Amino acid sequence: MDRAVEVKSIYEELGVPAVVNATGTKTRIGGSRIRSEAIDAMKRAGDSFVRISDLQAEASERIAEVTGAEAGYVTSGASAGLLLSAAAALAGRDVHRMDLLPETTGFADEIVMPRTHRTGYDHAFRAAGATIVDVGTNDRHLGTGATNVEPWEIDRAITDETAAVGYVQKPYTEPPLEVVAEIAHDHGVPVIVDAAAELPPAENLTRFVEEGADLVVFSGGKAIRGPQTTGIVAGRRDLIESIALQHLDMHAAHDVWNPPETLIDSDRLGCVPRQGIGRSMKVGKEELVGIIVALEAFLEEDHAANARAWRRDADRIADELAAVDGFQTHVTDGNDVAVAPEVVVRVDPSETGVSATELVRALHDENPRVFVGTDRLDEGILTINPMCLDDEEAEYVVGRISDHVESAS
Ligand SMILES: *Cc1c(COP(=O)(O)O)cnc(C)c1O
Repeated sequence: MDRAVEVKSIYEELGVPAVVNATGTKTRIGGSRIRSEAIDAMKRAGDSFVRISDLQAEASERIAEVTGAEAGYVTSGASAGLLLSAAAALAGRDVHRMDLLPETTGFADEIVMPRTHRTGYDHAFRAAGATIVDVGTNDRHLGTGATNVEPWEIDRAITDETAAVGYVQKPYTEPPLEVVAEIAHDHGVPVIVDAAAELPPAENLTRFVEEGADLVVFSGGKAIRGPQTTGIVAGRRDLIESIALQHLDMHAAHDVWNPPETLIDSDRLGCVPRQGIGRSMKVGKEELVGIIVALEAFLEEDHAANARAWRRDADRIADELAAVDGFQTHVTDGNDVAVAPEVVVRVDPSETGVSATELVRALHDENPRVFVGTDRLDEGILTINPMCLDDEEAEYVVGRISDHVESAS
C-alpha cells in the first residue's frame, strides 16, 4: 500500500517516526521531495572537488538567465538569502562595514517595511544588523478601517538612515511592488523582496525583477524541489558581489586570491575581506549542484499538468472526507494563500465527538505521524494540501482521519 507504511523509510530505520505530509512544503517536516535528478547530481558532486566560487559564478549566470536579473547567488535557504541581502544593503562594497556587521555604528542600518509585511522571517534582517522600521497600520487587516499601508507612508519613512526597503511578496500584498520599488529608487535605496514560496508559477522567477526588486529571494527547498538547505537570490550585480564577499570562505592569501571576475571584482577591492557574516551559512558543492540541476528541472516541468493533478487530488480528498458525519469540506483556489489548491475541512465536534485540534494532535502522535494544515485551527478547521502526497498517501490520510472520527463517535 502506502510508501510510508509498507516500505521502511530511512527514518524508521533510525528509530525516528516518518511523516505523511498532507500540509505542503513545510520546513519543519522536511520541506519537499527532492528531485531524483538533484540527488544523483549531488552524489556525483560529493565525489570530487571544485572551487566553490567558480560554482557560485556558474550558478550566478544561470540564475541571471532564468530571472532576468544581472546576477544571482545560492544561499543555504531563503531565510539565509534574506540575511545576506540585508548584509549587502548595509555594507555594499565597503570591506570595513562587512567586517563590522552586525555592528552598524556610523552607517545607515534601517530597513523600512510596510507593517503588514512583517513576518517571523524578518528576524533574518535583524540578524544582519538591520533595524526594522515598520510603517502604516493594520487597519485593513483588523477591519478597524479601510486604509492599507499607503505609499506616502513608505516614502516619508525613508531617511538618511535607510539602507533598504523590505517587501514580502504574496498574490495579495499591498501596495504593489512596482509602486514601492519606485519610491525606494527615488530615494536611491534598494528593495529586498521575500518571494520564498511564490513558485510556481514559473513566470514569477522573472516577474519581481521586472517589477523593480533589487534583490529577490526564493526558497530552493519548496516547489523547486532542490536540496532543503538551499535558496536563490537574484538581483543587482553589485549587491550580489557584496553577498558573495560576505558569504564565501575568505581565508585566502592575498597574492594568490583570484576569484571569478563575473562574481567579484577583486582589483577594485584591493584586499581580501575577512570571513563575513554569512560564513556561518555556508553552502556545499553538493547543495550548489543540487539546486542548479533542480532549477533546470523545475523550468522544464509541466506546471499546468501539476496544477490539474493537485486540483483533481484535492477534489477527490474533499469528496471523500465530506462523507464523514460532522465534516464540511470545500477546495480553495490554487495561488490563493498557498500555491496549490487546499482542502478545507470544517469539523463540527458535536457530530464528530472530536475537535479539529484533538484530531490534529492524534494524527501528529501516531506512527507514521500524519501532518495536516493547522493555520485555521482556531476556526475549527484543518486543511489538506495535495502537493506532497502521492495517491496512496492521500488515501492513507483520508483513512486515518476517518478512523479517528469513527473511534471518537
Ligand atoms: C519558507 C519561507 C521562508 C524561508 O525559506 P527557507 O528556504 O526555508 O529558508 C522565508 N519567507 C517566507 C515568506 C517563506 O514562506
